Amino acid sequence: MTQPKAAGWKPRTQAVHAGARRSQYGEMAEAIYLTQGFAYPTAEAAEDRFLKAGDDEFVYARYGNPTVAAFEDRIATLEGTEDAFATASGMAAVSGALTAMLRAGDHVVSSRALFGSCLYVLEEVLARFGVEVTFVDGTDLDQWRAAIRPGTKAVFLESVSNPTLEVIDLEAVADLAHTAGALVIVDNVFATPVFSRAVSLGADVVVYSATKHIDGQGRCLGGVICGTRDFIRGTVEPYMKHTGGAMSPFNAWVLLNGLTTMDLRVRAQAATAQRLAEGLARHPALTRVLYPGLADHPQHDLAMAQYGSGGTVVALDLRGGKEAAFRFMNALEIVLISNNLGDARTIATHPATTTHQRLPDAQKAHLGITPGLIRLSVGLEDGDDLLSDLSAALERCGG
Ligand SMILES: *Cc1c(COP(=O)(O)O)cnc(C)c1O
Repeated sequence: MTQPKAAGWKPRTQAVHAGARRSQYGEMAEAIYLTQGFAYPTAEAAEDRFLKAGDDEFVYARYGNPTVAAFEDRIATLEGTEDAFATASGMAAVSGALTAMLRAGDHVVSSRALFGSCLYVLEEVLARFGVEVTFVDGTDLDQWRAAIRPGTKAVFLESVSNPTLEVIDLEAVADLAHTAGALVIVDNVFATPVFSRAVSLGADVVVYSATKHIDGQGRCLGGVICGTRDFIRGTVEPYMKHTGGAMSPFNAWVLLNGLTTMDLRVRAQAATAQRLAEGLARHPALTRVLYPGLADHPQHDLAMAQYGSGGTVVALDLRGGKEAAFRFMNALEIVLISNNLGDARTIATHPATTTHQRLPDAQKAHLGITPGLIRLSVGLEDGDDLLSDLSAALERCGG
């Protein structure tokens, strides 16, 4: 729950202090309440708590836990939403937000360029339960306009898409959705909680994989659903607490500490990403450098207006296709080959053979996931070192 006092602070203050609960010991760092349950002073107290738990009362860690609640309060305050529900992973947040509110016969409109697991949930899982999903090209407002109809229950999108970094006009899509009475659910991972205030652009529900920039150090999985108190406690909580996607208190503690440094990390990562994108933009071994912070990006103006930054991820397309992409990755000495993002370590991913391997070739082509595409999640290393590492690997990849 958002704390009234913290709501008036600036984001960097919120990210350090919001949600903190100190025990009688007055500990500085948040305590980890690594407990599955809670003892009640009397049988009557147990009965009362099961009947209705108060705001800072807990019955079982699958329902809620003090450390997890601190994380929920901090991120809700930062996002400017009334409340938040923390989940075991980003996918528990995406699938939980959707399945908690949808039922057979409902209609959903979603952008097509989605993280692989999000696509699985929208395309396969929801269909199995009788929810109709219409997919659109997220950057084409006419397609959204044509697909959203009176009675459409929800609109789902990744504000900045993975891995090709298309930027969707959230404000315009939210307007269309709200006219039809649909709820706008945004997977905001690539936009980050630092650069984006999705609710101020019209999102009703904001979902994060906390595994990415919120942890930012590649340590643990987590997710969070942010929204109104009604949606979080009335719709999400009853579903999540009985289906089991709860966040571990230990992970909540790691992520609370992640939030403390997130602003500094993400701004530094984005500044280096901008520098690398500019430094590699005309490299002869590349056909394209995709980065919303570059003036030639198709949604550059929109990205600047809605986020004020190009973000922490750059996509490179190697002229020599898959062979060149693999030679490039194998020649990197600092940049690691992996598939996380938002990490302090710079990571190169080959989406076509890893994160998006399951997509049929035609769909890969449609989404711009070419054989030469590399997704670079820029970390906290020195920008000079990174540029040298990337340039040297490009020289050695043989075009
Ligand atoms: C990583 C990611 C997810 C899933 O998060 P997990 O924590 O890995 O479950 C969902 N959406 C986007 C855009 C992501 O990048």
